[in-house]
Amino acid sequence: MTGAPTPRPADRPVPRATLADVPAYVAGRPPTPREGVPTYKLSSNENPYAPPAAVLAAAESAARTMNRYPDMGSTALFEALGDELGVPTSHLAVGTGSVALLYHLVQAFCEPGDEVVFAWRSFEAYPIAAAVCGARAVQVPLTSDGRHDLDAMADAVTDRTRVVLVCTPNNPTGPAVRHAELAAFLDRVPAGVVVVVDEAYREFVRSEDPVDALALGRGRANVVVMRTLAKAYGLAGLRVGYLVASDEIAAAVRKCALPFGVSAVAQAAAVAALGCTTELAERVDAIVAERERVVAALREQGWSVPQADGNFVWLGLGEHTPAFAAAADQAGIMVRPYGTDGVRVTIAEPAGNDVFLGVADAFEPKV
Ligand SMILES: *Cc1c(COP(=O)(O)O)cnc(C)c1O
Repeated sequence: MTGAPTPRPADRPVPRATLADVPAYVAGRPPTPREGVPTYKLSSNENPYAPPAAVLAAAESAARTMNRYPDMGSTALFEALGDELGVPTSHLAVGTGSVALLYHLVQAFCEPGDEVVFAWRSFEAYPIAAAVCGARAVQVPLTSDGRHDLDAMADAVTDRTRVVLVCTPNNPTGPAVRHAELAAFLDRVPAGVVVVVDEAYREFVRSEDPVDALALGRGRANVVVMRTLAKAYGLAGLRVGYLVASDEIAAAVRKCALPFGVSAVAQAAAVAALGCTTELAERVDAIVAERERVVAALREQGWSVPQADGNFVWLGLGEHTPAFAAAADQAGIMVRPYGTDGVRVTIAEPAGNDVFLGVADAFEPKV
């Protein structure tokens, strides 16, 4: 792949050819305003609850220093994370959301033509992260019940594979992988391949044998645990995530990060949020209880819903996807349609979930 440099066109600047392969990130849309009808955004897996007072206070106080650059080393945040996770700060990297860390990691490990293996359908940032670096995205189909096929993923690893991404719980289909199956999978992946365990929704998992990715990483230097404060911690708008990895991997990721990426407001709010365990756990418990209620009601209505381990549910509507999304929009909720695969619906406050259940009840066919 490293041959003669591509000649520069004479007439105009042209970006790298690989950028032509970069798919667009489709963001969840806000609900359409409807006269006299309350609307709910169920399209981006956000936390529906306002931040705890202590988090707001920390953010407001940090906002007063916006004429200054933030602490470039995010010192207080690194220390809070190191304490919380029981790891030395040299094993950490922080970024503007865990999506940024994912991009940095692929950039740090992939030459053009190298392979990034992940399940599909999964998080839509994965193909983008690979394509931006000119890496090849190797997509391994999910099982029919929306789970990672970890055997097939291990089989898909070749000499060119540099990174494997495991999304647990899987966005958008819902199931988490189990600790034992992930451990067996890691035993099959060569030590020279980075395995990222993307735990964006870990706080919502209540299933048996939950993944303890930090424990798996302690015995294996190629495991990267990626987490975010966007979902359970309710800081989606501030852009802050972190990863835990070996010294070497964490340092490589930090080298790719933009200087001063994580703002002072985000750093302060993140530190405060890490300290608000009880209040945030109450919010997560409320969302989990709602998830269980919604899944039970959908099954009662006749839908077959994959195991929902995150703060969202998946309806595999196939060709009926656009019609369902349109019906939801009419009723005042915005869901996230995926082409003709299905819709992902975020679990929100009970009133929004009730609107969703009403739309689902009225819709035919129930898949
Ligand atoms: C939301 C999400 C993230 C985190 O995104 P941020 O950039 O931290 O907001 C990471 N992975 C998955 C699978 C997600 O759904």
